[in-house]
Amino acid sequence: MILCANPSAQFQSHQAEIEEAALAVMRSNRFVLGDEVNNLEQEFARYIGTTEAVGVANGTDAIELALRALDIGVGDEVITVSHTAVATVAAIEATGAQAVLVDIEPQYYTLAPSQLKTVVSSKTKAIIAVHLYGQAVDLEAIIDFCKEYELFLVEDASQAHGATYKEKRLGSFGDISCFSCYPTKNLGAIGDAGLVTTNNTELASKVRMLREYGWKNRVSEFPGRNSRLDELQAAILRVKLKYLDEDNEKRRQLAEYYIKHLTGLPIQLPEIRSKAESVFHLFVIQVEQRADMLNYLREHGIQAGIHYSMPVHQQPAYKKRIRTAKDMHITDLIVKKIISLPIYPELAFSDIDKVVNTIKEYFGKQCENC
Ligand SMILES: *Cc1c(COP(=O)(O)O)cnc(C)c1O
Repeated sequence: MILCANPSAQFQSHQAEIEEAALAVMRSNRFVLGDEVNNLEQEFARYIGTTEAVGVANGTDAIELALRALDIGVGDEVITVSHTAVATVAAIEATGAQAVLVDIEPQYYTLAPSQLKTVVSSKTKAIIAVHLYGQAVDLEAIIDFCKEYELFLVEDASQAHGATYKEKRLGSFGDISCFSCYPTKNLGAIGDAGLVTTNNTELASKVRMLREYGWKNRVSEFPGRNSRLDELQAAILRVKLKYLDEDNEKRRQLAEYYIKHLTGLPIQLPEIRSKAESVFHLFVIQVEQRADMLNYLREHGIQAGIHYSMPVHQQPAYKKRIRTAKDMHITDLIVKKIISLPIYPELAFSDIDKVVNTIKEYFGKQCENC
């Protein structure tokens, strides 16, 4: 089976180094928030191009704690997209704030800046810009909007570790930015982990307090919680961070291969935003007969995914109560057509070739019937 994502292959490609790093932690006497976490924070901040990075338990917490550090909570509104991981919206609601969801740009799958003015209100405090599938949102337009309305910009770069916009890394544009290091992400732990980046020392120290009961010298200054990062995960992430650029380059090569060989078929291929460099967390195409094509791929040993099959505003937990822009038609339309093809740094060219040929064969078959 050719898998859609394959974190185990990534472990195997750096196995000796990861095992050594993990063993050193297990043989130490510090398992949570120690040197590995401190070093990871410094190395990740340097990599992203911010002065600060803070390790937390997962990506959802990274967003929640980032919003809390900005003093966002009950009575406030935060604008983001419906076409994202549920986590983005769950994190907003975890602060007590209300999420307000807007539609996306059809060619890039990211927040449609033109919709912001249709939902902004006196309660709006921040925009969460989700860099979906490895590619930047329209940062220029969103930054302008945030300035005009005096809103905080929070980046959700959980699918875009290493991606750039105007040659600067994503996660360095927002007042504060968030990363998930879930195992399948471009920078993935062997378990859960998350990171927050910022150039604001005060915000960073607030996130550091919030992740451990609101503590300052072991006394709670405000209500926090436990969202600490393990030494084991931090040690593993430090190894993988060294290979992130190389791994992202492999993803880009695979994406180029797909684009080159699938051009001309009745498929909507991903488009790359000008001034942006994608890290292809996912390779998402659109086809009309999705269920049929997914079946065909599965029958031929190819596992493709759907990210995401139901927009957040249609899911039972949110439907009927969550506020959205009036016009959500792009989101509602594309969720019926999107397919994520296999892509990960260790995917062999012989395997991607099989995916390409199977897709060509599928459309060949279709045409024999027409
Ligand atoms: C993975 C992801 C998250 C959530 O991260 P977890 O580590 O699973 O909590 C949030 N936002 C986006 C866009 C993601 O892809």
